[in-house]
Amino acid sequence: MDKVILTVAPTGAWPMKHDTPYIPLQPEEIADEIYACYLAGASIAHIHVRDDHDQASMDYEKFEQTVKLVRERCDIGLNLTTSGGLGLDDEVRMKPFMQLRPELASFDCGSMNWAHSTTFINSPPFLEKLGQKMKESEVKPEIEVFDAGMFYNAEYYLKKGVLESPPHFQFVLGAPGGMAATVENLVYLKNLLPKEATWSAFGIGRMHLPILYATLALGGHIRVGMEDNIFYSRGVLAKSNVEFVERAKRIVSELGKEIATPEEARILLGLKKQSQKQVM
Ligand code: ZN
Repeated sequence: MDKVILTVAPTGAWPMKHDTPYIPLQPEEIADEIYACYLAGASIAHIHVRDDHDQASMDYEKFEQTVKLVRERCDIGLNLTTSGGLGLDDEVRMKPFMQLRPELASFDCGSMNWAHSTTFINSPPFLEKLGQKMKESEVKPEIEVFDAGMFYNAEYYLKKGVLESPPHFQFVLGAPGGMAATVENLVYLKNLLPKEATWSAFGIGRMHLPILYATLALGGHIRVGMEDNIFYSRGVLAKSNVEFVERAKRIVSELGKEIATPEEARILLGLKKQSQKQVM
C-alpha cells in the first residue's frame, strides 16, 4: 500500500488557549485551520468543538457551524467525535453525526479510567445503539482502541453485526489509563487485526513521532494534530496544525509513499462519496 490516509485532529477536548495560544477552538478558527491543513495535504479532519467558554462540548450548533464552514471550502473527509465531553446523554453524543452525516465518527470501544481523575464511559447499551445509528446514518465507525480489551469488544460487535466489516480501527496509545505508547504495544495490537481491516494509530504527547514512524513502517494510516500533541519539538509549541501535516507529508514521502487525497481516502475506507449521500 503506498497511499497513506492522514487525519488531522486540530482541537480535541482538552488543550486550552493557556496551554497553547495556537489551538483553534471556535468554529471559524477550526474551519480556517482545517482548510489550511487540507491545502497542506490532509485527507481527513477529526473534529471536536468547544462551548462559548472554550470548554469541551458536544454542542450541536457548534458542530453544524464548523462542518458548514469546512464544506463550503473543500471536500476533506470529516470525522466527528462522539466523545466531546464526559457524562453526556447518548442522544447528545450522537446528534452531530446523525444530522451532519460525516464520512466517519468515533466509536470508542469500551470504558476506562481517564487520566487518573475520572471515568470515560461507553457502556454496552450505548455502543450497541451507537453502532445501530451509525449504520442507519451511513457513517463509518472509527473504532478507537485505547487498550487491548477494547479490540476484543470490537471483535464481539463485529460478530454480532453491531459493527460491519471491513472495520476501520484507530489505536490510541499513551492516554493515561490506556495502553502506553510503545512500539511493542502497537505491534501487538496490529497483529490482532482481521486482514480486511484498515487501521491507523497515534501516540499522545512526546511519543507522537515514534508511533507515527512505527505505524508507517507497519503499513498503517496516521493522525497528527493538537488534540494529541501540542509540541512540534521538545519545548517548542507548534504554531499551527499545518506544521504537523507538512512534517507527516515529508516523512511519508521519504518512505516512498504518498498521502491520500480526500477522495482516495474515501475509496480506501470503502466509503461512498459525500455528494452521493443523502444529506439531511
Ligand atoms: Zn477526538
